[in-house]
Amino acid sequence: MVVIQDFTKLDEGVDVPLEGLVARCPRCGRNGIERTPPMGGNVLFLHVQTSRLFGDGMLTEPQDCCSMAGATRLGRGIANDH
Ligand SMILES: [Zn+2]
Repeated sequence: MVVIQDFTKLDEGVDVPLEGLVARCPRCGRNGIERTPPMGGNVLFLHVQTSRLFGDGMLTEPQDCCSMAGATRLGRGIANDH
């Protein structure tokens, strides 16, 4: 069973359980959820993901997302290169 979650259809500020707050993507202007990889690396803005249910768990895969690499993020001290 595959469940598609489309965060672009949700309103800004909606709190999605287990996922986070819906916000506007600075890259493409659509709504999505900001994701910080637990192991570090580039922050992603997740727009659409699929969740696949198995007998022993669930696998989520991003289908549509923007990379925030190089983007200015408040409070993180990352310089931009405009
Ligand atoms: Zn985007």
